[in-house]
Amino acid sequence: MNNRNWIERDLRVLWHPCTQMKDHEWLPLVPISRGEGVWLYDFEGNRYLDAISSWWVNLFGHGNPKINMALRDQLAKLEHVIFAGFTHEPIIELSERLTSLAPEGLTRCFYADNGSAAVEVALKMSFHYWQNQGKTRKNRFVTLSNSYHGETLGALSVGDVALYKKTYKPLLMDCITVPAPDCYLRDEGESCTEVAQRMFLHMKKVLEEHADTICAVIVEPLVQCAGGMRMYDPVYLRLLRDACDVYGIHLIADEIAVGFGRTGTLFACEQADVSPDFLCLSKGLTGGYLPLSVVMTHESVYQAFYDDYENLKAFLHSHSYTGNPLACRAALATLDIFDEENVLETNRQKAALLGSLLEPLLDHPHVAEVRQRGMIAAVEMVKDKRKKTPYPWQERRGLKVYQHALSQEMLLRPLGNVVYFMPPYVINEQQITDMVGVAARGIELATAK
Ligand SMILES: *Cc1c(COP(=O)(O)O)cnc(C)c1O
Repeated sequence: MNNRNWIERDLRVLWHPCTQMKDHEWLPLVPISRGEGVWLYDFEGNRYLDAISSWWVNLFGHGNPKINMALRDQLAKLEHVIFAGFTHEPIIELSERLTSLAPEGLTRCFYADNGSAAVEVALKMSFHYWQNQGKTRKNRFVTLSNSYHGETLGALSVGDVALYKKTYKPLLMDCITVPAPDCYLRDEGESCTEVAQRMFLHMKKVLEEHADTICAVIVEPLVQCAGGMRMYDPVYLRLLRDACDVYGIHLIADEIAVGFGRTGTLFACEQADVSPDFLCLSKGLTGGYLPLSVVMTHESVYQAFYDDYENLKAFLHSHSYTGNPLACRAALATLDIFDEENVLETNRQKAALLGSLLEPLLDHPHVAEVRQRGMIAAVEMVKDKRKKTPYPWQERRGLKVYQHALSQEMLLRPLGNVVYFMPPYVINEQQITDMVGVAARGIELATAK
């Protein structure tokens, strides 16, 4: 079977995520037969360098031998078991390891099977905690503008990317949206730290005024990924943690995208020396192998639900595939690689190379900003560089970069006008150089006229 056959069969029966399917009348779908390291191979011998880690999930390459081996072993033992009333080895070990690695005090793990579900769990848990504490007026959440927390109705409610949210507005809960400390929006001469401090005043005011009705503030620490890889200074998280403590409000850190070394530290919160009340993890958790997510929280939260059955304080949330043993085993193998291979240090060198290769793009007449935090880098294409006027979304400039990249054996998938890099950590120096070269040429083509 060649690519064409697979595409035809796909388009007869499938409906792809985050896709206007009509685009595939002219934009070829890419059927993949196998993956190895940073490479994805189609059915006709073409290959693509996966510069976005297959939607930010992959850490150590496709077909990673260590993870493969762990999964084979697990498969011979136990594929799945109900996780209420029963338990298993991989999930106990994983939880022990996660609690030892996570920021201070996060001693309890509650599992789900994808990022959005983890966000739902954190929101419900926070609300329910306050209910159990007799704080029954607390029923609202605070979120940052341009944030993204997933696609299910609760997660969508606390997000703020209009493209995904607007249609469903009538179905969503009402949240308080506070302007983000996005450093791209800085005033002239202002530093990222100053933007964060200045923007925090908006947050402080909201928390001060509505403390008695707010359950939690939810943030993506350091990088708003789906919102266009917009970044902000760690000082904001520090200020937010302190204010949440002062006003008796939970802090939910959604590290679904930025966790597991993406921003340079194992968890992004570490850069602000902050421990949230709820930490949501998914994506890289299994090295990009299997769907799994976890919400980590404090013992005091756990204790607020711990009571005699008749008092009806239990957290009765569940998903059929909660804590799937295969997924947990993949996660354990992923953590083994972090232990054995000095990943964060190697990443620092790779990130430095990526940053230096991207620097010349700053001079491009249609590039307003090149930003980076660890193994995430982004280039903001604009119509007018001085005024930072964006290209109209209808022009789909980013899509032109995507198409150019595909023609050059590369998977880049810009978010609107933002060309970004989020490669698997196993990418080598030559591949980083190629990746930037292809992107630079793509940006050239996409911004020409
Ligand atoms: C991807 C993402 C989610 C949603 O995770 P899914 O597994 O796609 O549901 C939530 N929050 C952040 C920050 C994400 O990047």
